[in-house]
Amino acid sequence: MISLQKLNKIYTGLAGPVHALKDVDLEIDQGENVVVIGKSGSGKSTLLNIISGIDRPTAGVVKVLDQDLHLLSENDLALWRGRNIGIVFQFYQLLPTLTALDNVRFAMGLVNKIPRKARKRLSLEYLAEVGLSDKVRKFPNELSGGERQRVAIARALANDPQILIADEPTGNLDSNTGAQIGHLFDKLSGQGKTIITVTHASIDTEKFDKVIQISDGNLTHLSTLQRPESV
Ligand code: ADP
Ligand code: MG
Repeated sequence: MISLQKLNKIYTGLAGPVHALKDVDLEIDQGENVVVIGKSGSGKSTLLNIISGIDRPTAGVVKVLDQDLHLLSENDLALWRGRNIGIVFQFYQLLPTLTALDNVRFAMGLVNKIPRKARKRLSLEYLAEVGLSDKVRKFPNELSGGERQRVAIARALANDPQILIADEPTGNLDSNTGAQIGHLFDKLSGQGKTIITVTHASIDTEKFDKVIQISDGNLTHLSTLQRPESV
């Protein structure tokens, strides 16, 4: 469902060119819970931004959900992203003037995929899914870091995306709270969502279907968990 072929990204900055991704080939299947690990500056965010269409590669092919992303205009790409990809950031990026409920509902309004009269009910369902039924009327500054991140995950689910992308989602959370977020992603991948998380924290790689290691823009290690055949 995600296919990257000979992906290269070269940034042309003031300090000269930076080759952030080098001939990266990668396949990710539907429902996989994938983690990308690597040191700071290794190219993890660049990889995520290219998969989500936030950034474009310098060379190579990016196919996501059978869509060749380079064929889309900027406007079409923004709409495609809103409908198909949920994004979770390290610092939550919630709207401070909106309640938890309205942060989720607002995301639905941006994309117009969910019928208007279903929005409130579904927003409450997603907030329940992340364990925040008792906090839906709270504003971000009334919530803990872990709660804010769970609102952000509910918002990322708002338009029922097939793919969820999270760039260091637990980087600002203590390890217990981070583990709760990890369990939530596990549950969502069990429901068929494809999840790609970036982290530079040490993690228990056995919890993931696929572990991708990047160093200096090279994909240096790829391991796929062999699930037992179902009978
Ligand atoms: P990571 O997420 O693993 O920390 P990044 O993907 O953010 O790494 O960055 C990879 C490399 O590309 C780094 O050397 C970084 O400095 C460089 N880089 C990232 N974004 C830009 C940019 N917009 N302009 C120039 N260089 C960039
Ligand atoms: Mg990064």
